[in-house]
Amino acid sequence: MSSGKINVAVENIFPLIKKFLYSDHEIFLRELVSNATDATLKLKHLSNIGEANVEYGNPQIEIKVDKDNRTLHVIDQGLGMTAEEVNKYINEVAFSGAEEFINQYKDSAKDSGIIGHFGLGFYSAFMVSEKVEIITKSHKDAPAAHWACDGSPEYTLVEHDKTVRGTEIILHIDSDSDEFLEEARIRELLSKYNKFMPIPIKFGTKEQTHEEGEGDDKKEIKEIVDDIINNPNPAWTKKPSDLKDEDYKSFYRELYPMQFEEPLFHIHLNVDYPFALTGILYFPKLNNDLNIQKDRIQLYQNQVFVTDNVEGIVPEFLTMLRGVIDSPDIPLNVSRSYLQADGAVKKISNYITKKVADKLQAIFKNERENLEQKWNDIKMVIEYGMLSEEKFYEKAKKFNLFPTTDGTFLTLDELKEQTKEAQTDKDGKLVQLYASNADEQHAYIQAAKNKGYTVLLLDSPIVGHLLQKLEQEDDKLGFVRVDADHIDKLIAKDEPQLSKLSDEEKETLKPLIENVVPKEQYTVQLEAMDSEAAPFMITQPEFMRRMKEMQQTGGGGMFGGGFPDMYQLVVNVNHPLVSQILETKTKKKQERLIKQSLDLARLSQSLLKGEELTAFIKRSFDMIK
Ligand code: ADP
Ligand code: MG
Repeated sequence: MSSGKINVAVENIFPLIKKFLYSDHEIFLRELVSNATDATLKLKHLSNIGEANVEYGNPQIEIKVDKDNRTLHVIDQGLGMTAEEVNKYINEVAFSGAEEFINQYKDSAKDSGIIGHFGLGFYSAFMVSEKVEIITKSHKDAPAAHWACDGSPEYTLVEHDKTVRGTEIILHIDSDSDEFLEEARIRELLSKYNKFMPIPIKFGTKEQTHEEGEGDDKKEIKEIVDDIINNPNPAWTKKPSDLKDEDYKSFYRELYPMQFEEPLFHIHLNVDYPFALTGILYFPKLNNDLNIQKDRIQLYQNQVFVTDNVEGIVPEFLTMLRGVIDSPDIPLNVSRSYLQADGAVKKISNYITKKVADKLQAIFKNERENLEQKWNDIKMVIEYGMLSEEKFYEKAKKFNLFPTTDGTFLTLDELKEQTKEAQTDKDGKLVQLYASNADEQHAYIQAAKNKGYTVLLLDSPIVGHLLQKLEQEDDKLGFVRVDADHIDKLIAKDEPQLSKLSDEEKETLKPLIENVVPKEQYTVQLEAMDSEAAPFMITQPEFMRRMKEMQQTGGGGMFGGGFPDMYQLVVNVNHPLVSQILETKTKKKQERLIKQSLDLARLSQSLLKGEELTAFIKRSFDMIK
C-alpha cells in the first residue's frame, strides 16, 4: 500500500521514548493490553447499539511469547482498524499523544513519582522493541492492514491477508530487554497490571482436573484449558446488594494471596457524582506496629492497575487499610504535589473519609459487640484518623471506644457518666485513670479499683496524642496513668489523710532516705497515706512521661531532644515500716531497710534489672535464711 514518514516534530522521539523512565519500561504491556481491551469493549458497544454487524461472541485477548523469534504478541478480537484508521490513529493521533506527553513530562517525570504513565500509550512499545508490527482487520468491510516501524520515523503500511477480525501487535524485543521474552516475567506483569481487567486474557494453557461420574464410576478427568490470568468481574464492580460477606472475604484473598489473616470489616465504595469512584476497603488486623505494611491499597483506572501508592488520594490514616479504589477521575499524569492540590482529588479523599466514618458509626449502632471484639485491632486507624482529620474526629468521637481493665468498652460519654460520681476531684475536674499494661501496672490498677475507680487499658502507641487533644478540648477532663502518682493524689479529694509523723520526724526521715536513694533518678516525696497502702512506691509524673511517649511517635514534643526518665519515690509516712525505719538505731540496719524497700518498689514497676536485681535476690535470701 504505502510507506511514509511519521509526522515528527522532534526528530528523535524514539530514542526519547526508549530512554523515558528507564525503570518503568514494563508499563508497555499494560498499555497494549489496555488498547486491546478498549478495542474489544468498543466493538461490544457498537454491536449493542446495532452499528457493527458482527457476532460479538466471547472475545479474548491473547498474549504469546515466541522466544526463538524474539517476539511478543498481543492479540485481540476487537474492532480492528482499516488502513486509513491506522494512518490516523497510529501515525498521527498516537504519535502526537506520545510526543505531547514526552514534551510535557520529560523534566518533571523523574522526581514527581508520577502514578503510572498513562498517555504514552501505543508508542511505549518502542521502549522495549527494535521493531513493532501491527496486523489488523477491521470489523468494517475492508482489507486487513500491516503496519511496521523499526523505531525510526519511517514506517511501512501494506495490505495483509488476515481474515479474522481484530488486531495483533508484534513486538520484536530489543536485545537490552530480554527479560520480556521470559514467560515468568510476562506472567508477573499480567498479574500485576491486568488481574482484574474486564476482558479475559489468555496466557498459554494449563492442565485442569475435574471429576466425572458417580460412586464407583467416578474418575478424574484431566484436560488442557486456556490459562486465563484475570478475573474480569472483580467484586468491586458489582452491586453491594449482590455480594455476601463471604464474597468480600474471598475477594480479599484474591487481592492478597499471601495474606492469611481475614479482614475485620469491609467498606464498599460506590459513587458516580460529582466524581466516579468504586472500590472496596478492608480493615486488616493491625498490631501496634507502626511500620508500613507492604500489602497496600491498590489504585485502578477502569480495572487497570495503576499503583499501590495511594498517598494523596486517600487520607493518610486510611493508607493503613487494604483494598482497591477504581476511578477514571483521578488524574494520572501529574505529580503528587499537584495531586494533593487538585480539587477533584480532595473531594475523593473527603468522600472516602466520610464513608469510613459512616460505616464505623453503623457498625457501632447495629453491631456494637462486633466492633468491641475487633476494637483493639482497628483502634490505631481510628486514633490516627481522629488526630489527622478534623471531620473524622467529629464523627468518631461518638463511637471511639475506651477499653477498661474489666474488659468493657465505653464511649467517652459513657465513661464520663460512669465515673463522674467517684472520680471528680476537689477542683471539679473529672479524672480518668488508665494503664498501658495490665500486668506491669497490676499493683497500681488494684489500688485504684479498691477505691472504686474505673481504670482504662490504653496501649496504643499514639493514644497519648489523642488524650492530649481531648484534654485540650475539655478543661474539666483529665487523663492520668495509674502509676503517675500515689492513689490519693491521682484524684485529689478534700479529705487529707492525717500524718502519723510530726513535721520534725519527717525532716529527720527525708535525708535518711535521700542518702540511700540515687538522686539523679528519684525525687523523694513524703506523703500521709492510708496505712494499708504500700510504704514505698515509685511513680512517674504523667506530663513528662506522656510528652516523651508522644515524641517517640511523632509530633507533640514540646522540648527538643530526649527526656530523662524521672521518677518519684513516694514514701507513705503512715505505714508502720516507715516508723520502724525512723526508729532503727543502727545506721547499717536502717540503710538496709531503706534499700530493700526501694528495691521492692522498683520491682513492682519493673525497674529492677541486671546487677541490681541479682544483688536484691541474694540479699533477700540472706534475710530469710
Ligand atoms: P489511547 O489508547 O490513549 O487512545 P494509544 O496510543 O494507546 O492511545 O492508542 C492510540 C489509538 O490507536 C487508539 O485510540 C486506538 O484508536 C488505536 N489502537 C491502538 N491499539 C488498538 C487495537 N488493539 N485495536 C484497535 N485500535 C487500536
Ligand atoms: Mg492506549
